Amino acid sequence: MTNTNTGILIIGAGGVSRVATVKCAMNIDTFEKITLASRTISKCEAIRDEILKNQGVSIDVASVDADDVPALVSLIGQVKPRVVLNVALPYQDLTIMDACTQTGVDYVDTANYEHPDEAKFEYKEQWAKQEQFEKAGVKALLGSGFDPGVTGVFCAYAQQNLFDEINYIDIMDCNAGDHGYPFATNFNPEINLREVSANGRYWEKNDEGVGEWIETKPLEIRIDHDYPEVGVKPSYLLYHEELESLCKNIKGLKRIRFFMTFGDSYIQHMKCLENVGMLGIKEVEHKGQKIIPIEFLATLLPDPASLGPRTVGKTNIGCIITGIKDGKKKKVYIYNTCDHQECYKETGAQAVSYTTGVPAMIGTKMLYKGIWDGKGVFNIEEFDAKPFMDELMTQGLPWKILDLPTD
Ligand code: NDP
Repeated sequence: MTNTNTGILIIGAGGVSRVATVKCAMNIDTFEKITLASRTISKCEAIRDEILKNQGVSIDVASVDADDVPALVSLIGQVKPRVVLNVALPYQDLTIMDACTQTGVDYVDTANYEHPDEAKFEYKEQWAKQEQFEKAGVKALLGSGFDPGVTGVFCAYAQQNLFDEINYIDIMDCNAGDHGYPFATNFNPEINLREVSANGRYWEKNDEGVGEWIETKPLEIRIDHDYPEVGVKPSYLLYHEELESLCKNIKGLKRIRFFMTFGDSYIQHMKCLENVGMLGIKEVEHKGQKIIPIEFLATLLPDPASLGPRTVGKTNIGCIITGIKDGKKKKVYIYNTCDHQECYKETGAQAVSYTTGVPAMIGTKMLYKGIWDGKGVFNIEEFDAKPFMDELMTQGLPWKILDLPTD
């Protein structure tokens, strides 16, 4: 165990935080004490009040600007948590990591660092903190949401328990939910639209056996995939951050790709907004005021945290994994299906926040209880997947394994 502190500090109070905090409260025997801090304290207070009413658990709240390292260090110094769970935005990853090493506390997040001025997401700057974490004697668990997160755990579980060698992975992310709006995003609009409007990319070994990144135009590659319990949905190849760590950590891999479903209405709106410049991330002048188009758009769009009551339908997210077991070709689909309304009934949030917030709580639990230990910066697939898979079964994200024909 890294330190003698007790309790956890959760930073950020959006849709994902709501689920993670409710789930931590449901696991208060493990976490002992919960403090929720964010920029807008009224959002923390609203979550606190609901948790007291629904779970009968009392949590503390605080206000903090997570871009400000000294402010974070001071808050962590007062709260003295064993683990900090970052469910603010990816822009805050580096500052919160720095505050954790300065105070000797473990760190967990759900999305890799992005610079606000550059729509480029990669692990480089977080991996560069390896020595900093080792020296501080603490650990960072990167990407403990669903994707990244559970998808990495599914791959690690397959590597550790189902295959002798894994050759191909396709991560399939289907949200077949309907919120009734012509256009809305299911998590932070700025982060979501930056991800979807970027070029696609996947990793493949060339004829010389050297892994290389193949770039595609945004939404250029489409397949129609049949998702169990959901049906056939158009799925588009995107770059997604877990590809960067999985291509290093899964042995024998020849190709890894990521697909996400989008309806026609979403794509038409997004392309139109892009064509008129509303997805821009550089400042423009409007009537003497500087505004960033995508930030203004996020102000206009429905708050993802408000979609819970009106979203119906299911999500199905998983990994199609092909490889070798006992000298024979083997192919499986490991997946979870979630129902938006059931998630809402339990936590007050729709399934996209739910499928992220539950694994954020489980990853935090793995560190809190010392089940996953070590010093440094880790991606989720570097740990023993079994205890995490067991928790998924009992904490609301049960998974299944389908054997697929190897053709
Ligand atoms: P929201 O926008 O709903 O919430 C973000 C929260 O962070 C808000 O409460 C916001 O405060 C707070 N925040 C932002 N900046 C600061 C700051 N400087 N200091 C303190 N608090 C701040 O986002 P989501 O809940 O939808 O997403 C949360 C995270 O989860 C994101 O990083 C997202 O990328 C990640 N995610 C990961 C997924 C996965 O599967 N791995 C899937 C979906 C999301 P305020 O209310 O004042 O704006």
